[in-house]
Amino acid sequence: MEHLKPHVADIRRAAALLGQGQLVALPTETVYGLAASAQNPDAIRRVFSAKGRPADHPLIVHLPDLSHLQHWVSQIPPQARQLAAAFWPGPLTMVLPAAPTVSRLITGGQDTVAVRWPAHPLFQAVLDQLGHAVVAPSANPFGHISPSCASHVLRQMAGRIEAVLDGGDCRFGVESTIIDLSGPAARILRPGSISAAQLAQVLPLAQAQHGHAPRVPGALASHYAPRLPCHRFESAERARLPAGIWAEKLAFIGMAGYPAPPQPPACSFLLPADAAAYASQLYAVLHQAEASGCSRILIELPPDTPDWLHIRDRLLRASSPIGSETANTSA
Ligand code: AMP
Ligand code: MG
Repeated sequence: MEHLKPHVADIRRAAALLGQGQLVALPTETVYGLAASAQNPDAIRRVFSAKGRPADHPLIVHLPDLSHLQHWVSQIPPQARQLAAAFWPGPLTMVLPAAPTVSRLITGGQDTVAVRWPAHPLFQAVLDQLGHAVVAPSANPFGHISPSCASHVLRQMAGRIEAVLDGGDCRFGVESTIIDLSGPAARILRPGSISAAQLAQVLPLAQAQHGHAPRVPGALASHYAPRLPCHRFESAERARLPAGIWAEKLAFIGMAGYPAPPQPPACSFLLPADAAAYASQLYAVLHQAEASGCSRILIELPPDTPDWLHIRDRLLRASSPIGSETANTSA
């Protein structure tokens, strides 16, 4: 895999590869995306095979700018204009009625399409050079931990894609908020850094969703998962954990401000008590915990409050409840 750097020549190279139908991982403000030209059916097919992603899991179309929206949707409802004015470019994906010309490869056979205009300057520079939209799911094997820096992509996608453009660490670190505007009432399908409270300042939302709707890939119970048994517990349950657990060879993921474990784990990762800072480090810590050589990952969940909803959503899918028989190891 070519490791491209944030220079003009390499931005051109990334755009040229995409124009030829190759797959290139690009940094976004959420996680690294596995980009392919949205106009090239063969390239789109290769995204599914490179990730091992089932064909009925639709892809998000990433736009060069707002003017491209009209090519992808059959109509732009007023709510989409309001949300775009408030949050684009940025980590918000809108599901809208698809234009008849949109490939069913992208929509997974549905009559809706998911669109986003990302804010990352390198992503924007590549799309400006390319001149059209790309599809860009997260640049990781299906179901596994998402990449928040170029080295995660290099390690997980070697031999499967042509290049990665290195833009350093992703700012938000968790996938975009997805809002469905194709039905009678706007509805959050996947929580993200843009919260329900922020969206509700712009338009009324259908009853808050806790978790993803079924047609969203991240909706699978196991997703974002390390290849190591990964278990979780609520802080309030700490005193009831099975005896002896702290004596195991644990990679423990906790949070600053929580009491220290009764004995020091073999590997310990303490994430900040601020949700934005926690989110930006989350996937890097899961990757490190996976590579730690420990026998399992144990996560003490952050609080069950609205600020932490998107983070808990990812952690609940990455792990199983402690004491459950089935270890959560995605292939
Ligand atoms: P990722 O694979 O991390 O890029 O996630 C892409 C997300 O966009 C998935 O959760 C998809 O299900 C969602 N998505 C894409 N198109 C649609 C659509 N037409 N309706 C609902 N969700 C969609
Ligand atoms: Mg993903």
